[in-house]
Amino acid sequence: MNRLLPTSTAGSLPKPFWLAEPETLWSEWKLHGNELINGKRDALRVSLQEQQTSGIDIVSDGEQTRKHFVTTFIEHLRGVDFEQLKTIKIRDRYDASVPTVTGPVSRPDPVFLVDAKFLRQQTNQPIKWALPGPMTMVDTLYDDHYKSREKLARKFAQILNQEARELEAAGVDIIQFDEPAFNVFFDEVNDWGIDCLERAIDGLNCQTAVHICYGYGIKANKDWKKTLGSKWCQYEEVFPKLQQSNIDIVSLECHNSRVPMELLELIRGKKVMVGAIDVANNEIETPEEVAETLRNALRYVDPDKLYPCTNCGMAPLAREVARGKLQALSAGAAIVREELAANLGLVPQT
Ligand SMILES: [Zn+2]
Repeated sequence: MNRLLPTSTAGSLPKPFWLAEPETLWSEWKLHGNELINGKRDALRVSLQEQQTSGIDIVSDGEQTRKHFVTTFIEHLRGVDFEQLKTIKIRDRYDASVPTVTGPVSRPDPVFLVDAKFLRQQTNQPIKWALPGPMTMVDTLYDDHYKSREKLARKFAQILNQEARELEAAGVDIIQFDEPAFNVFFDEVNDWGIDCLERAIDGLNCQTAVHICYGYGIKANKDWKKTLGSKWCQYEEVFPKLQQSNIDIVSLECHNSRVPMELLELIRGKKVMVGAIDVANNEIETPEEVAETLRNALRYVDPDKLYPCTNCGMAPLAREVARGKLQALSAGAAIVREELAANLGLVPQT
């Protein structure tokens, strides 16, 4: 990216009402067979166009072809039985009925390659593609085969690497791994979580990102946040090791969250996708609010490494709200871009 402060989103965007029930996570498809295939493509086109008209610089598929950011990927793997459901606690937070790992996991065919090629054909802008991270995948399953979170995560890392290499070959500029589980299981993150991430990006030449957040704006996450106190220092536990890793970009939740901005100092040198849009409420930020979050982040992130972004995915929001938030993100970034240009001589050069 040559442009200073290139904007992007963390991942998902709302789906059109004719494809899936709006403002709902995991909502069922309303179409079937060929109609569903074509419908997903049309939704991807619409989602891309909304990002473009909102002035987003690094665009994505808005995750229009997936029901859920983790399970859709896992559905394409061998070794996981979606008929055998077990109730487990996800991220130590809420009960969910999840599929069972019953044998060795493998990826018989590419999962998102066709979708990524389709997105690549639609635009010359840089594109970002999100995949679930190995630890978050493990945390969404009942494992009756490996009986070791680490072993299973290492297998997933290999599979993700195969997928990521193909996405890169299809022209994806940034591959992002979503690891909300990094905000919960600190010892495991440091023992093997970041190691698995390194395995997943092994041999890639495109930019790589990890997204660590406090989750969608759903009730279980909002309730959890209430228990975290006035300062959220979860990032502090994993940043030192992440700073040493080969990951290029770290995508974080910042606006309206209680994360102390100075924690960004711990990943100095990395590019940072700074969440300047709250996805957990319907209030649309003003451009000035976005600008203020970005200015705060600039105290710890060099201007050429700051990527204005959303805190998390926006799938559960109403479309007008998500569109308003995208526009606010662009407008806020534009304010700070102008300020940086005006102060060019004052900006510390790196
Ligand atoms: Zn997120």
